[in-house]
Amino acid sequence: MVPRRFRVAAKRRDTADTWTFELEPAEGDTIRFVPGQFTMLSAGGAGEVPISISGDPHQPERLVQTVRAVGLATQAICRSEPGGSLGVRGPFGSAWPIEQLEGADVVLAAGGIGLPPLRPALLTMIARRKRYGRLVLLYGARSPDTLMFPEEHVAWSESGVEVHVTVDSAGPEWLGHVGVVTRLINRARLDPARTSALSCGPEVMMRFVVAGLVDQGVATDRIHVSLERNMQCGIGHCGHCQLGPTLVCRDGPVYRWSQVAPWLAIREL
Ligand SMILES: Cc1cc2nc3c(=O)[nH]c(=O)nc-3n(C[C@H](O)[C@H](O)[C@H](O)COP(=O)(O)OP(=O)(O)OC[C@H]3O[C@@H](n4cnc5c(N)ncnc54)[C@H](O)[C@@H]3O)c2cc1C
Repeated sequence: MVPRRFRVAAKRRDTADTWTFELEPAEGDTIRFVPGQFTMLSAGGAGEVPISISGDPHQPERLVQTVRAVGLATQAICRSEPGGSLGVRGPFGSAWPIEQLEGADVVLAAGGIGLPPLRPALLTMIARRKRYGRLVLLYGARSPDTLMFPEEHVAWSESGVEVHVTVDSAGPEWLGHVGVVTRLINRARLDPARTSALSCGPEVMMRFVVAGLVDQGVATDRIHVSLERNMQCGIGHCGHCQLGPTLVCRDGPVYRWSQVAPWLAIREL
């Protein structure tokens, strides 16, 4: 439960309210993690919050995390500057099942700040590109200036990922797609029998993504989602993140859709 001190080695502004931090342990070992896991991150006395790891698991020397400033704790984290320090506990939680997906076509469907938690999985699958069929990224954001990691989209595409990006609305200078992320599912021309999917973003967006994939014939036990719930301890003790019979910090955040769908169907469970 005691956070370790990590030094802010680098900080990059991604969008108006979102920053990516590279952190190094003040002492001791670096953090090794699997794609999909998160840490409990804190700055000063402003509270501790779950934040997914967005870096490359094969470059664990620096812990990379991408944070959107929405409230007290995340604003305090985002005010931290290089040379300063943050508290880190973890890594915690379940992983995207990327080994199980070998041989399959894999769709990664992300909305807004849902892309950073999928980035470690995407980078790992790119590094093992030959083990997968098609890799298809479907990414939607509110507007062009809220797209995460736009400079990496080209590199991913050159590495054999089919990258489809859309925004909800844009000015005339935007030459890409406009519309919700689910519209990209039809464009991707999936082979449902070969397709598995990983999705992260607002829960309502993931529900629509799942519906779109199921419409195309993708089985719900081949769709995996990362859920967000109010978490306080991160280790399955406090019970704040309970969802039906599971604790999202311990058993999630990554679940098979077929497992969580019955619980998510019950309002305020
Ligand atoms: C497993 C997991 C991984 C996450 N990964 C990231 C990440 O990589 N980057 C990132 O920026 N955020 C991530 N989050 C969300 C982040 O934890 C919340 O934004 C944070 O807890 C807000 O705390 P706060 O004190 O800054 O704001 P608060 O004052 O607690 O809340 C400010 C606003 O954000 C809303 N909010 C608070 N917590 C959540 C939540 N868990 N989900 C949705 N809305 C929330 C509140 O309703 C309120 O409107 C993740 C959450 C979980 C559970």
